[in-house]
Amino acid sequence: MTSQKPLPVPILFLLLIFFLAACSPGEEATPAASDGKLNVVATTSIIGDVVANVGDDLIDLTVLMPAGTDPHSFEPSPQQIAALSDADTVFVNGFDLEQTLMPVLDSAVSPDKIVAVSDGVEPIEFGGRDAEAGEHGQRYDPHVWMDPNNVIIWTQNIEDALSKADPDHEDAYHQNAEAYREQLQALDAWIQAQITPLLPLKVVTDHKVFGYFARRYGIEQVGAIIPSHSALAQPSAQEIAQLEDVIKQLGVNAILVGNTVNPNLAKRVAEDTGVQLIPIYTGSLSGPDGPASTYLDFMRYNVNAIVQAAQR
Ligand SMILES: [Zn+2]
Repeated sequence: MTSQKPLPVPILFLLLIFFLAACSPGEEATPAASDGKLNVVATTSIIGDVVANVGDDLIDLTVLMPAGTDPHSFEPSPQQIAALSDADTVFVNGFDLEQTLMPVLDSAVSPDKIVAVSDGVEPIEFGGRDAEAGEHGQRYDPHVWMDPNNVIIWTQNIEDALSKADPDHEDAYHQNAEAYREQLQALDAWIQAQITPLLPLKVVTDHKVFGYFARRYGIEQVGAIIPSHSALAQPSAQEIAQLEDVIKQLGVNAILVGNTVNPNLAKRVAEDTGVQLIPIYTGSLSGPDGPASTYLDFMRYNVNAIVQAAQR
């Protein structure tokens, strides 16, 4: 075919008609649309789980980031970018969590389809070195899901967006969201009961992921290996030395290291200071067979890890 002369235009046109006729009736060229369900995209696995709780089997859900992905630096594949044009609604975190993904989303999806689930969350503002990161567009700590009360706000935003896009199922979305919000309230009460007796509790994290958890439950995030709200930054040798001094002076309970960053630097700091290194989940759920495959399990796993670290 390639070495032959090009086909005359009318024949190409007929072939095209034939091709379209062959695929359109029975076979589904666009399966997501043909089952009548909303075609919904979520960026992170954590957002995806919350959206799934509200949308249940009324939506077709695609989660862009696989388990274990760092949300700050994720870049979608060309296939994922192409599939985005079929989306009815795209749920993103907001507060510029998806630093490298958002420019792609903004050019592939019309702005009225993009919903920031964190809209209405009272943000934690940057300070210190993070103010420098602010020059690149980040003003607020994006790790809002570390407080289940913020995820209650997510469920309201998700319920509202799904109901607007698919008003026929408004009641079902509302019931699903209400049931899930009750579980989030129970989670919040459980965390409070676990953490409060252990206070004061001082932790160091790989990057500053515990701001909202600290604000809600009263633990102290005394420092981070990467002194930033984004895992994209790199610490200097001097910053590491200062952090090790702080850890030794303050008597830190644990260094918490998430599943989406390279742990080598944190391991070195743990060895230098003699503080235990505790693996937790931060920017992503575990895989489906792991111990943190839902948001609720993710939070329970992290809290249990902190409790065990504090009791050692
Ligand atoms: Zn992060």
